[in-house]
Amino acid sequence: MAVRQIIEFGDETLRKRAREVEKIDDRIATLVEDMKETMALANGVGLAAPQVGVLRRVVVVELEGVGVVELINPVIKKTSGHQEDIEGCLSYPGEYGITSRPMNVTVEALNLEGKKVKYSVSGLSARAVCHEVDHLDGKLFIDCVLRMLEPDELKGDKKE
Ligand code: ZN
Repeated sequence: MAVRQIIEFGDETLRKRAREVEKIDDRIATLVEDMKETMALANGVGLAAPQVGVLRRVVVVELEGVGVVELINPVIKKTSGHQEDIEGCLSYPGEYGITSRPMNVTVEALNLEGKKVKYSVSGLSARAVCHEVDHLDGKLFIDCVLRMLEPDELKGDKKE
């Protein structure tokens, strides 16, 4: 395992659409392990492959009550409700805003074993899943932010 460098805003890689994973091979397995390590070190709750410069549809995310999971070719199947809360991004260090997201999300994906997995999550985990899946389509949290926070409004939250 190795920690990878997180790409920051301004890099056009973050605006590109990531490609589907066709075969879950050793490269994807290494990517997932590296992303988990990189996310943990950065104290994040989610990380998408484009953030480490890899344009593949791979996400790692920490889900409440589940732990850190990999989502390969994730698709959001269902959303409901609405929440507005503080969101940040490892590619935007130190910047936070209030975003509007669904309260509940059901996501389907493949895991590293190639098995179909399905998670229904809410609250922070739902925000994290939406945020990371958006990254795969070149969409960033600043695109759906309602209001950026001033530095004195920040609290010690984990970053998405
Ligand atoms: Zn992000």
